[in-house]
Amino acid sequence: MSNHVVPAPDVTALPTEKGGTFPVRRVYCIGRNFAAHAVEMGHDPDRDPPFFFQKNPDNLDPSGTFPYPPKSQDVHHEVELLVALKSGGTGITVEDALKHVWGYGVALDMTRRDLQGEAKKLGRPWEIGKAFERSAPVGPLRPVSEVGHPGEGRIALSVNGTLRQEGDLNQMIWKVPEMISYLSDYFELRTGDVILAGTPAGVGAVTRGDTLEAVIDGVGTLTVNVV
Ligand code: MN
Repeated sequence: MSNHVVPAPDVTALPTEKGGTFPVRRVYCIGRNFAAHAVEMGHDPDRDPPFFFQKNPDNLDPSGTFPYPPKSQDVHHEVELLVALKSGGTGITVEDALKHVWGYGVALDMTRRDLQGEAKKLGRPWEIGKAFERSAPVGPLRPVSEVGHPGEGRIALSVNGTLRQEGDLNQMIWKVPEMISYLSDYFELRTGDVILAGTPAGVGAVTRGDTLEAVIDGVGTLTVNVV
């Protein structure tokens, strides 16, 4: 018998490829994790410590439809590897980190670039550009037992059949175990946490009517219609 004074919100649960859902607790996203993307955004790629922002769990959307959001004229696609954690903790070592991964998926870190740019300029938080409704389309998740731990493989995104983004997971500046370890020094990671692992070069604007096709070799594909 719940003692809530209002109805409890639903837990976001992402479909997995073979049935069953993955309930989401938190969403951590790394910035500038591919050198070529850091350069296109006007930064030097280097091994400065990584930085993360968060989206909200209910921003994740497996529907395959992306409604163009309000208050922006410059919404960009960013194709990313999604890492889904089955367990967590604090002070996780790089060597132990992959034990905590349940599986992987293909995701888009959709970004209101104009609002993000303004926030950067003013030294304000990024949520207004990043953590809006349905801002992270995701494909079905697949378990480690099927896909292993993909450390390399093509990651790409096409818009209406034209290739826009392309890179390889082996170009990530911070690898998945390093991201898990780093995050666990600052936060307590737990079951249901997910990480979006950064985007390769070629980000660009979408418009209503576009069809986005994202692929990560060995992980899966994701098709999203912008409406
Ligand atoms: Mn991103």
